[in-house]
Amino acid sequence: MRIDIVTIHPQLLESPFQHSILKRAIDKGIVEVNLINLRDYSTHKQKSVDDYAFGGGAGMVMMIEPIANCINDLKSKREYDEIIYTSPDGEQLNQGHCNRMSTLKNIMILCGHYKGIDERIREHFITREISIGDYVLSGGELAAAVISDSIIRLIPGVLNDETSALTDSFQDNLLAPPVYTRPADYNGWKVPDILLSGHTANIDKWRHEQSIDRTKQRRPDIYKKFKGEE
Ligand code: SAH
Repeated sequence: MRIDIVTIHPQLLESPFQHSILKRAIDKGIVEVNLINLRDYSTHKQKSVDDYAFGGGAGMVMMIEPIANCINDLKSKREYDEIIYTSPDGEQLNQGHCNRMSTLKNIMILCGHYKGIDERIREHFITREISIGDYVLSGGELAAAVISDSIIRLIPGVLNDETSALTDSFQDNLLAPPVYTRPADYNGWKVPDILLSGHTANIDKWRHEQSIDRTKQRRPDIYKKFKGEE
């Protein structure tokens, strides 16, 4: 997979891809992440990419030309499965989207700033608009990092234990069960006996029940989907 992130702050996005699971995925050649500086496509002397909003009002708007030049340049080099714009009014990211996007080959993510981007870019270039939650960030970079991380960890070969992504929360419309590690007794706080029993079938059954209880209590919306699926 190749992810091209178009941003006016590439430095903001360097660190998330230089550590842990994402770094390993890049080092293994499973994913390539490119940070593209939108200012390189500005035709202005000052490399500016924003201008006043038509109709007045507070806040600047990202201009069409640099973004269109950048997207057209990238599109001339390869075909993109998705050109994503990060936006609070987009579809809210969920595990289903991540699962589907983890099978794609080329993804472009455009990070907005200021009041957002000229609407005509959204109409003519963007294939998917994604929000990471009902709150407003100052820029799309953190959202792009969240989207990339949640997709990349699902690509086969990225996680060491192949099955571990499948038992995470939201897969099968269930939250993950509680987990424990040593010591089995910390000042009288004990790990449930069943987990120390060595009886795999019973442990699996206990975990499944815990997942169901947890989902029922914490996320009745997801529990409804789980019940419908059963
Ligand atoms: N005026 C816009 C917010 C602009 S915030 C509005 O009220 O909807 C600046 C940029 O940050 C946006 O263009 C977008 O790219 C990014 N951003 C902000 N909140 C986000 C969110 N919840 N999810 C994804 N991207 C977000």
